[in-house]
Amino acid sequence: MAGVIEGDGPGGARIRCIDPRTGRPVAEVPCTPPDAIAGIVARARAAAPYWQAEGLRSRKRRIGALHQAFLARADDFVSLLAEECGRPAGEAWTAEVAANHDLFRWWLAHIDDLLVSTEVDLDPLSQPHKRGRVQLDAVGVVGLITPWNLPVALPLRTLVPALLAGDTVVFKPSEHSPRTGALIAELCAQVLPEGVVELVQGGAEVGAALVEAAPDAVVFTGSVATGRRVAAACAERFVPCSLELGGKDAALVLVDADLDRAVEGICWSAFAFGGQNCAAVERCFVDARIHDEFVDRLVARTRQLRPLLDVGPLITPAQLDRVQAHVADAVARGARIACGGTAPGPGWYHEPTVLTAVRDDMAVMTEETFGPVLPVAAFDDLDAVVDRIDASPFGLTASVWTRSLELGEAIACGLDCGVVTINNHGFTGALPSAAWGGTGWTGHGTTGSRHGLAHLVRPRTVVVDASRRSRELWWFPYNHALSTAVSGLVELSRRGGARLPGARAALTGLFARWKDRD
Ligand code: NAD
Repeated sequence: MAGVIEGDGPGGARIRCIDPRTGRPVAEVPCTPPDAIAGIVARARAAAPYWQAEGLRSRKRRIGALHQAFLARADDFVSLLAEECGRPAGEAWTAEVAANHDLFRWWLAHIDDLLVSTEVDLDPLSQPHKRGRVQLDAVGVVGLITPWNLPVALPLRTLVPALLAGDTVVFKPSEHSPRTGALIAELCAQVLPEGVVELVQGGAEVGAALVEAAPDAVVFTGSVATGRRVAAACAERFVPCSLELGGKDAALVLVDADLDRAVEGICWSAFAFGGQNCAAVERCFVDARIHDEFVDRLVARTRQLRPLLDVGPLITPAQLDRVQAHVADAVARGARIACGGTAPGPGWYHEPTVLTAVRDDMAVMTEETFGPVLPVAAFDDLDAVVDRIDASPFGLTASVWTRSLELGEAIACGLDCGVVTINNHGFTGALPSAAWGGTGWTGHGTTGSRHGLAHLVRPRTVVVDASRRSRELWWFPYNHALSTAVSGLVELSRRGGARLPGARAALTGLFARWKDRD
């Protein structure tokens, strides 16, 4: 549902929730007053030490209960996703229920290993009687700001590992999916102690207030424009932030591709979620020798897609305007509409659209469209097309479609982006064990896999020194014995060095040093 924020009434600002399939209002959600947010962050901060003190075993038990509560309410999530985002049921069950079931299972199965401390290497000769470890502590309060397009999976991909790691979370769902966000928070409240997950509702003003309240880390997923603002506000406050931003994914179809699979896969990757997926195929480059056949098949397949059953609507009238503007600009500059091209409704539905005869400098090839529009371009020169793909400032995912798997892998690994797939596209965002993130304007965040923990924990080095000597080798005074010992140790390690004299000097120096003799 598109959320329209309505100004201050007697009860404060509210989100008027509109079903994008009909354009009709269906609910209202009160916004959190921005001036209450510092207090909410303080509440989450006060809860953090208790949550950490519960220990991993107890936190796992509670997150296991959250997992079960999530599964028990799966039908409610699917209904809300339809009403809030116009999400077809098939998409809601696969991307938002099944994928999150896997997410819970994976983190619960692996978190013990992922949080294990590592040992610090301490040389017993020069650093005797010491032991040390690097442990992964919780960062504290995570400010979690999410978009609407996967309003369950995107919060959970951070919430689950953050909570297991011992963080508390202040969660701001998108103003376009506040009721899904509220249901996630309701389930958290059922199984977690007070203050561990706090919910704030609203739009830009509320998001900005959350960052201004300086949580210990911010995890942001959303557009480039907002990401820039969030990054700048975090920098002002020295708050570390993770940014997962937009995409302009390319699919590259080589002459030997399995066309049946390429057409099916690229059709799904372009039009699933109504094209409103950060990893939607938004540019398709096809070898000129198979271009016409590929387009004919793609168009035939696209025409079979059913409004609202396969392809949902755009989320807001503004998003629909953007899609129409990209199509109109492309057509005005010589592109051809091979199918689709209109917005017949219901609601803010736009037909899945294939464009041909596109040029690389059209908006539809350079800016994130975030809608069901697929521009297809022909290429003759493989090296040149790789440069054309990399010319985008975005770098989320890309795919190569070919029967030559080694060639496909070599090309894919040469592309400047965070995820590459051969004969598939974009689906790895749903794999909890796979790292998800991008390059350039896509930001520097990572979710999924052990790398997804990096923003959520703080490495702390702990060294215990059981030495009873009054001073260390490297402490004052800087005397002859110190130089002899250290130069001897260096000589010992130097390739081609004089090993015996080195060892002798090192031992003499160390002995003199430990005995306080110069
Ligand atoms: P958006 O940037 O408009 O909003 C994202 C969130 O930021 C919302 O909760 C919004 O209320 C909040 N916000 C707005 N202004 C803010 C401010 N000044 N300070 C703090 N928070 C603020 O994005 P959207 O339209 O909801 O989502 C679509 C975008 O998200 C697309 O660009 C898409 O590619 C991207 N996305 C990226 C990924 C990824 O993993 N890289 C995943 C999903 C979506």
